Amino acid sequence: MAGSDPIFGPIKGAERREVAGVQVDAVRTGAARVKRIVYAPGFRWSKDMKPITGTEYCMHAHVGFLVRGEIHVEYPDGCVHEFAAPQVVAIEPGHDGWVVGDQAAVLIEIDFEGDTIEKLGMPDGHRH
Ligand SMILES: [Zn+2]
Repeated sequence: MAGSDPIFGPIKGAERREVAGVQVDAVRTGAARVKRIVYAPGFRWSKDMKPITGTEYCMHAHVGFLVRGEIHVEYPDGCVHEFAAPQVVAIEPGHDGWVVGDQAAVLIEIDFEGDTIEKLGMPDGHRH
C-alpha cells in the first residue's frame, strides 16, 4: 500500500495528469520528460487504455526503472516479460501489459514524446 511511502509523494515542479487510472507526474528537461508513472492495482492496458488510444497494442517504448510493484508484459507473438521492483525496464513498442498483485506499480521513465523510440535507440517493434 502507498501509506507513507515517499515514492508516492509530491514531486517538485511536476505536471500531473491522470488517464484511465494511471497517474503521471512529468518534469521537462531539454527534449526529455522524466516521469513517475503510478499504475493502480488491477490496471491492464488492453482493458483500460486501449479504448482511449484506439490502437491494438501499446505503441510506446518504455525505458526506465520499476521502483515498486510488478508488471507483466506480453507481445502479440506470445513472448512474455515480467518485471518486479527493483528492476530496469525496457519494453518494445507493440505490447499489452498489466499490474500483477495488489500493489501499485511505480515506473520512473524517460521519454522524448514522439521521438522516444529513435532517441532511445529502441527497436520499433518486438522481434527476434
Ligand atoms: Zn517474441
